Amino acid sequence: MTTGKLLATQGYVVGIEISGSGSRQAIALADLNGTILYRVRRPLEYVPDAETVLQLIGKMLTEVTTPERLSDGRILRVGVAIGGLVDATHGIVRTLHHAHGWDNFPLQDYFEEKLDIPCIINNNANAAALAEVQYGAGIGERNALYVGLGRGIGGGMVVGGKIYQGATCSAGEIGHMLVKENGPKCSCGGFGHLEAIASAQAISRRMIGLSAEYPETEAAIRRVTGGRAERITAEQVFRLAAEGDTLAQRIVEEVYTYLGIALANIVHLVNPGVIILGGNVAQAGELLIPPLQERIRELCLPSVGQSVRVVQGKHGSEANLVGAITLALQDV
Ligand SMILES: [Zn+2]
Repeated sequence: MTTGKLLATQGYVVGIEISGSGSRQAIALADLNGTILYRVRRPLEYVPDAETVLQLIGKMLTEVTTPERLSDGRILRVGVAIGGLVDATHGIVRTLHHAHGWDNFPLQDYFEEKLDIPCIINNNANAAALAEVQYGAGIGERNALYVGLGRGIGGGMVVGGKIYQGATCSAGEIGHMLVKENGPKCSCGGFGHLEAIASAQAISRRMIGLSAEYPETEAAIRRVTGGRAERITAEQVFRLAAEGDTLAQRIVEEVYTYLGIALANIVHLVNPGVIILGGNVAQAGELLIPPLQERIRELCLPSVGQSVRVVQGKHGSEANLVGAITLALQDV
């Protein structure tokens, strides 16, 4: 599916981002170099079902692909990056966490019939991994790991320049790696999974939950969130830790430890040239990356750990959308 060669010289591609939680619905029109020409985001405040999302996406498509925006030709491909389990080989959404109506949904056929344009779908972390390798922080790397540290944790592996899908297209689901026996409960129902410790949601929730016993931390949270403690971000927890807040330091230390364990294990198995961190937690930047890189090196055999770079993704909150465009640009 991925030759990466551009055969067409005129036209456009469309990238679509769909999340299970409803918090991210986005569409972008891009040229054949992957440059975004126009984009629309329509986050929802509730968890929508498949029908609601597809109606919304339909309206957004009409808005994005007006005739005057398509002066240089037609739309050649549509790429869709999905926040759930995707059977990319058959173009089917297996399941979208937290959302209804998506189980075994033939999304690739749906868009191809509706739009009469070839469509490629994949998991959002896989798409973001490919985007970072082709257009972002991992340019030139043949073997790379992308870790999306968002509301949940997604992973995508590029091996030999291509997305590694695994036997049933489930490779890279690193959020559910067991890292702490008898650890906190995960969104999937399991315990001690990486996502339950190092996702943006886990970090914020832990900070709020434990702060009841720390009056100074409570005051600090109120200060940085303008009195709306429930809005504290993972990045703010990292900043408070850097300012010396002991509770924040404890929470951040756990992130380094368990994310370090998960990534060191993956490094020994896959030997990636680079680990690219995306999602909200990666916004902590220098407060996250050098300590994590050091932890990974401590935990790895020197010959394996020394060579791996840990970097922040280039595409930030656009990673999944740029990923969708990158999918669309394969084989155009
Ligand atoms: Zn889990």
